[in-house]
Amino acid sequence: MSKNKDTFKLVRGRFVIPISDKLGRNKVIEDGYVLIKNDKIFKVGKYTDVIGKSIIEKYSGVLEIIGCSKKSNFTTKDIIKHNCAILPGFVKAHGHDHESPIIGIAKDVPLTPWLDKAVNLFTGFMNEKRKFLEKKFGDSPNYITYIKARLDDIHYGITASMVHHCNHNKYRVEEIVRANIKAGTKMIVAVGSQDQHYDNRILDIPADIAIERLDNYIKLYGNAERTIIIPGPDQDFSNSPTLLRKLKDWANAHNSLIHIHSSEEPNTTRWFTQTNKMTPVEMFNSINFLDENTIVAHQVNCTDNDLEILAKTKTKVVHNPLANTILGSGMPPIIKMLEKGIKIAISTDGSGSADNQSIISAARLASQYQKALHQDATLLPAQQVLEMITIEPSQMLRMNCGSLEEGKDADVILLDLSRPNLTPTRIDNVIDNIIWAADGSEVATVISNGKILKENYKFKTLNAEKIKQDVQLLSELLIEYRKTAKEIRGTGAHK
Ligand SMILES: [Zn+2]
Repeated sequence: MSKNKDTFKLVRGRFVIPISDKLGRNKVIEDGYVLIKNDKIFKVGKYTDVIGKSIIEKYSGVLEIIGCSKKSNFTTKDIIKHNCAILPGFVKAHGHDHESPIIGIAKDVPLTPWLDKAVNLFTGFMNEKRKFLEKKFGDSPNYITYIKARLDDIHYGITASMVHHCNHNKYRVEEIVRANIKAGTKMIVAVGSQDQHYDNRILDIPADIAIERLDNYIKLYGNAERTIIIPGPDQDFSNSPTLLRKLKDWANAHNSLIHIHSSEEPNTTRWFTQTNKMTPVEMFNSINFLDENTIVAHQVNCTDNDLEILAKTKTKVVHNPLANTILGSGMPPIIKMLEKGIKIAISTDGSGSADNQSIISAARLASQYQKALHQDATLLPAQQVLEMITIEPSQMLRMNCGSLEEGKDADVILLDLSRPNLTPTRIDNVIDNIIWAADGSEVATVISNGKILKENYKFKTLNAEKIKQDVQLLSELLIEYRKTAKEIRGTGAHK
């Protein structure tokens, strides 16, 4: 028996898929187990009754077996072999938690009208009706949206994310930190900024306002558990080179990542390039904004010179195929990027444009699109895109997760193989089935930092019913508001 207060969790499943550089990225363990010590992974391997027996003996009194209701007197019969694939929690490298109530608003339009008719409408609603909404919900309405996004992530097995906290949300960091802590997930909050071509009411003029905001948030939330604050200037066009340079200096001084939307939409990118006589990437490069700690989202409309610059500077890219296709933005040259050695993560973007957070669906679409485009079925196999939603984004975000190996954060998910769409699954097709046959909703159990967030489809840290009710009501009030609301044209950089 362990002498101190360490606690252990044991989970056994039909397949363990570690996606680990140490164990081999494409290794699959049939009848495997993961042993968690406190908030870290302690052991991963092939299960045998001898191993099970020794774990029970060693950790009796401080052991929990996932799926077993007993608390003590375990025998090896209690070590249930779940009909599951055990994977590291998914890592979402680009999303917007404020978009969770606006699914299905302003569809079949490109990015700029979507921002105006969905995102800016919602922002206007939240600001104008704040007092009323606070009274109605007994909390900040922003918290309602952020906590719903946490529910969505846990639903799809996403345990770590980088949230791009854009536009008015830059003022609402307290609520998102609170939502993250409550949910038990971990998060980088990329705090937005802008000083041009945007809604006048939120421009950071002089630019130092944006820097002071970051300093203040670091003071307030820099030590919040499982939360990291970084600069996240909203858009390439809405931040002047002067502001970007100040933000990058801040990032360098704090050894911090920096995150921005780049070259997302064709019209805006064309307008930017004509106006500035250089592409967004060329502008970034001209002010030394790009290096291995810079992560750009999208990079859809990308020239060969942009690719050279991104590769040379080791800039990282987050690809969001759901949003890029729904908004008709186009798709980035992923294959060329990979050939040049550019690191790419696959993500969902916000639920307002995506409109769901199924990161498995995003991985599937990323692969399918490139196979079709290049008429080459060998491109982006399931193994590779699975890495691009686990180990790759984890390394990109400098997080200690994304694989199951000793010493990593205990972010572990159980993907239910008993669903009809995942039958039959064998050792030789389990990776393919996760990408090609799963829809993302098969994640039955989610553990993050050793804490159970969902078990057998039941949410443990969040009151799912209450959150769903609140967001349903919020969305109905929004649609009521839309009937008389003035349209906000805040994002039209190109007119
Ligand atoms: Zn985005």
